Amino acid sequence: MVGDGEAAIVYWLGSSLYLNITNQCSNRCWFCLRNFKQGVGGFNLKLKTEPTTAEVITELKQVLTMRRWREVVFTGFGEPTARLDVLLEIADWIKHNCGSSLIIRLDTNGHGYALNIGRNVAAELKAAGVSKISVSLNGHDATTYSENCRPDFEGAFEAVLDFVNKAKAAGLEVEISAVRMPEVDIEKVKALAATLGVAFRVRDYIQCFW
Ligand code: SF4
Repeated sequence: MVGDGEAAIVYWLGSSLYLNITNQCSNRCWFCLRNFKQGVGGFNLKLKTEPTTAEVITELKQVLTMRRWREVVFTGFGEPTARLDVLLEIADWIKHNCGSSLIIRLDTNGHGYALNIGRNVAAELKAAGVSKISVSLNGHDATTYSENCRPDFEGAFEAVLDFVNKAKAAGLEVEISAVRMPEVDIEKVKALAATLGVAFRVRDYIQCFW
């Protein structure tokens, strides 16, 4: 599970457990850690195959009693909502088997609706037990977002803002995060978050996760 060997589906840092359920992503951010590294914190995150719900839950069960976890976070070397149904099934299992004090969080690029046309993504996440969402917004406008994140589809910047609005409306605790780098005007992203009525967090480049 650890190091350059078998890829990690479940990995951890401090009191947070992380779930690496996919390596698919609708962005190709130039700064993405997966362009430069095999993984983080000694965990190899380059999946050879995408895990099933059952495989993720089996791995989760093996580490749940290892320490007192504060949160379980869907994040890793890919966009979790690219596998929305797997994400929802796992979140639902955690909600029903791990107690209400364990926070379930999603780290996302905010493309959930574009990746799952016709679905009510935010409401489904909330119903499955996800309570917090951190949305990466590494651009202060459509142009800088496109240049930095190189999304697969048109209108991605607007899609992220729409996702934030819908997640907030669904009653999820939402924050926008941005990586501190010269290409991003942090103050403008912060102002955007304030306009949308959500929290903002800046992350230093390079660090373990974004
Ligand atoms: S959105 Fe995240 S996982 Fe996808 S390319 Fe960008 S940094 Fe990497």
